[in-house]
Amino acid sequence: MAHDKVSAEWGDLMFDDQDMQERLPKPTYKKLRRVIDDGEPLDLDIANEIAHAMKEWALEKGATHFTHWFQPLTGITSEKHDSFLTPNGDGTILMAFSGKELVQGEPDASSFPSGGLRATFEARGYTVWDPTSPAFVKDEVLCIPTAFISYTGEALDKKTPLLRSEVALEVQAKRVLALFGQNPRRVVTTIGPEQEYFLIREEDYKARPDLILTGRTLFGCAPTKGQELEEHYFGAIRPTVNEFMKELDDELWKLGVPAKTKHNEVAPCQHELAPVFEQGTLAVDDNLLTMEKMKLIASHHGLVCLQHEKPFEYVNGSGKHDNWSLAADGKNLLEPGPDPEHNLRFMVFLAALIAAVDEHADLLRASVASAGNDHRLGANEAPPAIVSVFLGDNLSPVVEALIRKEHAEAQEEELMDLGVPALPDIIRDNTDRNRTSPFAFTGNKFEFRMPGSRQNISDPNVVLNTAVAEQCDNFVTYVEERADQDFRTVAMRWARHTFRDHHRIIFNGNGYSAEWEEEAERRGLPNYKTTPEALPALLDPKNIALFEKYGVLTESELHARYIAKAEQYAKLINIEANCMVDMARRLYMPALSGYAGDIATSVATKAELGITSAAEKSLAQRITKGADTVWKLADELEAKAEKARSLEDPKAQDDCFCTVVIPAMEALRAEVDALEAICADSWWPVPSYNAILYYA
Ligand code: ADP
Ligand code: MG
Repeated sequence: MAHDKVSAEWGDLMFDDQDMQERLPKPTYKKLRRVIDDGEPLDLDIANEIAHAMKEWALEKGATHFTHWFQPLTGITSEKHDSFLTPNGDGTILMAFSGKELVQGEPDASSFPSGGLRATFEARGYTVWDPTSPAFVKDEVLCIPTAFISYTGEALDKKTPLLRSEVALEVQAKRVLALFGQNPRRVVTTIGPEQEYFLIREEDYKARPDLILTGRTLFGCAPTKGQELEEHYFGAIRPTVNEFMKELDDELWKLGVPAKTKHNEVAPCQHELAPVFEQGTLAVDDNLLTMEKMKLIASHHGLVCLQHEKPFEYVNGSGKHDNWSLAADGKNLLEPGPDPEHNLRFMVFLAALIAAVDEHADLLRASVASAGNDHRLGANEAPPAIVSVFLGDNLSPVVEALIRKEHAEAQEEELMDLGVPALPDIIRDNTDRNRTSPFAFTGNKFEFRMPGSRQNISDPNVVLNTAVAEQCDNFVTYVEERADQDFRTVAMRWARHTFRDHHRIIFNGNGYSAEWEEEAERRGLPNYKTTPEALPALLDPKNIALFEKYGVLTESELHARYIAKAEQYAKLINIEANCMVDMARRLYMPALSGYAGDIATSVATKAELGITSAAEKSLAQRITKGADTVWKLADELEAKAEKARSLEDPKAQDDCFCTVVIPAMEALRAEVDALEAICADSWWPVPSYNAILYYA
């Protein structure tokens, strides 16, 4: 019964293969499949037929409008709705949708961040249909996944470089596979993003201007109980939350999003949803859809879904684990096979990945840098800001043994048959789960754990795809230069040398320890703790060269991305600072003043009767003094934010927000939080952590 319901509803609101097959003339369907499966260019002749079929289908699903659904540099999705309605001129109407409208749109999108790529006088940006991601109906709107580019063809969004990087990786991976005598039709990435989030009561949310304006609490003393009992993780799910999760699953399944696992996370009120992995760009689209649906559906249950990386101090923040692998015609390339040949191939891809991560660790770090994520990385709850690779206690010795064979060229064949054939067993038994590693091999995929919960995971995947493409290219070049030698020996040697040269990136120990920080420094691994330190990697000549070489991003596109991210950081911290000043002056100050006044009146009244209270007197004094401090710290914060705002250079401005404004925010918060801990609950103007995190 339940199964029938799910299979009946699965993909109901997604224009999937079955719908295409049923509704398109056979030749058109075949052409479209070739566009989707083989990346053939779209023939405009068939666009009209597809648009018509899509519209008829969408009307049946209750749609009245269509939109090009795209991902500007804000990271979230954007849409502008147009109705299908077209007047006939005789008072009647027609529901129309042309091939042109399907394929290309021109949103009046001059207000999206473009990092300077698009001056407003040349504000035209185009949305272009991405046929590889299925259209869907959401809230009576036919949504068409699109890329967003400028008049001159520059990427203005997150999707375009991701699509380009998938192409680059496919081309290079196919060259590698060809050397192994394999010629798959498609090589794609597979991605399974695990999404963490918080759910709190709407009434608490509405009573906190900081949550409303910034997505996180900027004040709040520690809750009496934190996550130390570890009772929330995988614990029984609250009935309201359960109802939310059920509705979310239903909605996602209808949209063809393969939501799979749901559970409570470590922090109180924190949860996770993991989907079944899909082809990379699709997985990114579906993750965005999931995030959007989470917010909407929470509101049906009197809840608010917080996707910020750090909504609450003192308990864990939220991340998004990016599970990543490569598949050739559906076969996972990070899965060692039954014979040495497959295992050699596995070792080559493994080495390529390790080299990619080591060479561009700075870029990977930059790809997950944001004001929100700065609260997580390196805070002993998420991976450190240092990028390293975890191979586990089983696979590591194999790699180490390989490196040690350095001077025993003759033994290469032997080694391959000795150490490596047992690989599938070794890896199957790999239950090792080092949670402190930013980049962990988990049996048949890598799990990149640094991305923040709120971010669009295109960025890190663009870096991964391109960096791995480069290493595949290196491998092929190496082999081609040694065409007269035995391929397997040469391939093994490349893997061995690559593991040796990038050995420093492999770390299986505790990533939270202070020793690792020192050790990483000795190894020369970058450790960028904050966004302003991490972002300039986008402008590093070696990284520009990488992206240009593989046609993923041009120098000017990269520069624009740097500017957009740097500006976003400054804007976010500025909003937080303003919000704190405002709350301090207009919420906390009146509360403190009122409460101290109350006590003072009580002290005075009692004194007339000859009653004295040492506690009351000292409390009134402490609170009054505290209020003075709060007032002063708010003034200081305001002045520092003002100074940061006045700086014009993006890097200097970010640095100022990071090193001058944030400490002033922390000082103000510390004083307010200390006062919250001694102020009467009835006087406190906003809900406390206790109330928010432990609702019934
Ligand atoms: P856990 O990491 O908690 O043990 P799983 O290993 O089952 O859980 O998977 C976690 C996530 O990784 C899921 O979203 C899953 O779909 C995804 N995943 C599994 N295999 C792959 C793969 N080959 N490529 C990409 N993602 C994958
Ligand atoms: Mg996992």
